[in-house]
Amino acid sequence: MKYWSPQAWVQGEWLTHVLLEADETGHWSDIRPHTPAHSVEQAIRLGLVLPGLVNAHSHAFQRAMAGMAERRHGAAPGDDFWGWRERMYQVALRISPEQLEDVAVFLYQEMLQCGFTHVCEFHYLHRDTQGHAYADPTEMSWALVRAAQRTGIGLTLLPTLYMHSGLGATALTQAQRRFASTPDTVLALQQTLAKHIDQQQLTTLMHAGAAIHSLRAVDGGAMRELAQALPTQPLHIHAAEQSREVQDCLTHLGQRPVEWLLEHVGLDKRWHLIHATHSLPHELQGLAQAGASVVVCPSTEANLGDGVWDMPNAMQQGLTWSIGTDSHVNRAWTTELLGLEYSQRLLHQQRNVAASASVHPSSAAVLFECALNGGSAASGLPLGGICKGQRADFQSFDTRHHALLGIPAMHLLDALVFSSPHALPSQVGVAGRLITPLDSASAWTRTMQALWI
Ligand SMILES: [Zn+2]
Repeated sequence: MKYWSPQAWVQGEWLTHVLLEADETGHWSDIRPHTPAHSVEQAIRLGLVLPGLVNAHSHAFQRAMAGMAERRHGAAPGDDFWGWRERMYQVALRISPEQLEDVAVFLYQEMLQCGFTHVCEFHYLHRDTQGHAYADPTEMSWALVRAAQRTGIGLTLLPTLYMHSGLGATALTQAQRRFASTPDTVLALQQTLAKHIDQQQLTTLMHAGAAIHSLRAVDGGAMRELAQALPTQPLHIHAAEQSREVQDCLTHLGQRPVEWLLEHVGLDKRWHLIHATHSLPHELQGLAQAGASVVVCPSTEANLGDGVWDMPNAMQQGLTWSIGTDSHVNRAWTTELLGLEYSQRLLHQQRNVAASASVHPSSAAVLFECALNGGSAASGLPLGGICKGQRADFQSFDTRHHALLGIPAMHLLDALVFSSPHALPSQVGVAGRLITPLDSASAWTRTMQALWI
């Protein structure tokens, strides 16, 4: 498949009049700048082209909660992450495999429309609503696989280990009964998915890794058991999202979460820590030295009142990081990067914090490149941008959009992130093919009515 763009973001810079060619496997095979449009008549004309981005942290079912948890309940003096979690469990306990597929199709389509071309699904809804194993233990996972295939988005599915309700606990609560799993059941899910991906020749689009819910939910022995069984796959874990979680960890384990993971689990480049919000400089340094990465989820972290990540320190340490939309109160990468930079500006009373921590003068360029490279690592697939051998994922923008109109060429990425209402891509490609939107609104509406009325 051949495409032509007047301006494309290639390995950290704008190139002009670019011929982009994808081979039959869906990977870039040729990138040729300074190619006149008339010389490649058979190429599909695109607008301003950027690589597609990986959404490195998603719980698809939580899309059904966006806008549904923004009111205080009862006379409690505060509303925080832990209160939100109780409301999240209400949805987690009700949603059926069919409803999960409807929600995921709607969500994945929104992600594609916003320029995300791959999603890492941190998936812990394994059992039925009563907490019993489904006849096919992969039942809920298949709903996500089908949703990805129907929409065309790439998927790294991360079946998630969840064993305890908290540090020091030995069992789950009733509200957590659908999450029940052991290293063996998670490994069985991972192997079933990996086999399916292989047999169905989906290896370009899909990958199976694993996740550990958190230090609250899994002890060190089980973490090491799962990690040892998956020597090359991506491993994701929530860590240091909440200050209470850090305090609990200090009380029960005598160390902060990231300190403990570094010392007791042996992190390496397979590991992606979700949030790592409350990490101290020596912990960020330890992660960078281990080759591990962080996934920041700026909109969700703001929505839940988690705190602000120490981005300048992380970037000075050379830590790899990506972005995720997590609870899906937002689905656009532009809003995530904007939120990340703005939280830093408010905290430090400085402008262009991302750029200050790097040699590049453009904050948007620094943020985009970090999200691109970190996202590829988090997915376990070659999704590192427009470069030979990487998967041919792209998003194309019409520069007549108000946010881009009249902007000099070299500032277009800055305007994409820092001028809103944000421009959305007019075309999106995954593995060399243009995506065709589905009509998923009526199934979504039906499911929302069933879940909330
Ligand atoms: Zn999460």
